[in-house]
Amino acid sequence: MQDFAYERALTLPKAIAALAHKGAVPLAGGTELVNWLKEGIAAPRRLVDIGGLAGLDRIAADAKGLTLGALARMSDAAGHAAVRRDYPAIAEALVKSASPQLRNMATLGGNLMQRNRCPYFRAEVELPCNKRKAGSGCAALAGQDRFAAIFGWTEDCVAPHASDLAVALAALDATIHVEGLQGTRSIAFADFYGTTGETALRHGELITAIHVPASETARHSHYLKIRERRSYEFALVSVAAGLVVENGHIREVRLALGGVAPKPWRLRRAEKALAGVALTDDEALRRALAGDFAAARPGRHNGFKTELALRAAIKAIRIAGEKS
Ligand SMILES: Cc1cc2nc3c(=O)[nH]c(=O)nc-3n(C[C@H](O)[C@H](O)[C@H](O)COP(=O)(O)OP(=O)(O)OC[C@H]3O[C@@H](n4cnc5c(N)ncnc54)[C@H](O)[C@@H]3O)c2cc1C
Ligand code: SF4
Repeated sequence: MQDFAYERALTLPKAIAALAHKGAVPLAGGTELVNWLKEGIAAPRRLVDIGGLAGLDRIAADAKGLTLGALARMSDAAGHAAVRRDYPAIAEALVKSASPQLRNMATLGGNLMQRNRCPYFRAEVELPCNKRKAGSGCAALAGQDRFAAIFGWTEDCVAPHASDLAVALAALDATIHVEGLQGTRSIAFADFYGTTGETALRHGELITAIHVPASETARHSHYLKIRERRSYEFALVSVAAGLVVENGHIREVRLALGGVAPKPWRLRRAEKALAGVALTDDEALRRALAGDFAAARPGRHNGFKTELALRAAIKAIRIAGEKS
């Protein structure tokens, strides 16, 4: 592990100033970053501990929407009454993430900034991995790719995005508020992750809050997570669905998939095609999803993910629809 300076910031302006230094990174709950230091995934020169910044852990809800402070703990957001009642997909995504101990430490901002779980990326020995060492190749491409993405990947990297929360936020059209030396700005969630899963944050910028607009689709939402074991496991495939149903037919729907692409994968064609479809009509639901699923490009060991994700989407639509 490389030596680094440690600094505890007690105000937001001091944190922003400290983060402007070359090689400085924020430390929140530390559940990811400390592992990266130990595993050699990150070698910052300076850790700016933002864990004590007052007010950034606030969770507030009103008629316009939900504001989640970047330093809110995953467990606090998952258990918050307004989140559970009006944004159930968010509460469910959080409670199905990691373990109770981790959720008590980990923050929402840190969750959105986590890196992928590709075993080659996390390996103790050095393996070809473009995310660890640019230009070194991708061991997963010719190796074990059961976990890999089926949508939107390139030969540079086939790892899917790992955050559950991000999938719910993608479906519910969240906005990320950030602050840096240049001031504050808001980033639509659809623009927060680039095509390779990297974020739109500039050096020195901090996520300060996440805003989710209030809506009927958010209130009738569900997060379905399919994993290799029942708890303490990342998603093989996941779905966030939010619906408004009238007389058994879909009036409005928001859909995003997790575990299948370098970033949360919104199903925008399906959202249009699903309007008017009866919740009980399995064939019509499949047909409406087919347009987006035609773009699936599974690898050598994960062809099963396409059908799994399709079935998971139908199941999540039905569960969310029953809440409407
Ligand atoms: C064993 C294990 C299992 C897990 N399982 C799941 C799972 O099933 N689902 C899931 O979604 N996640 C899972 N996680 C990831 C977990 O949710 C993250 O580790 C956690 O949310 C990170 O938050 P943190 O506050 O500890 O971040 P830190 O470790 O402090 O930081 C992580 C990264 O975020 C940056 N950062 C932190 N806060 C900010 C901010 N406000 N603005 C800008 N950058 C910031 C840091 O600089 C660092 O780069 C798991 C983690 C572990 C270790
Ligand atoms: S999939 Fe991505 S993270 Fe995994 S080895 Fe390839 S480049 Fe590295």
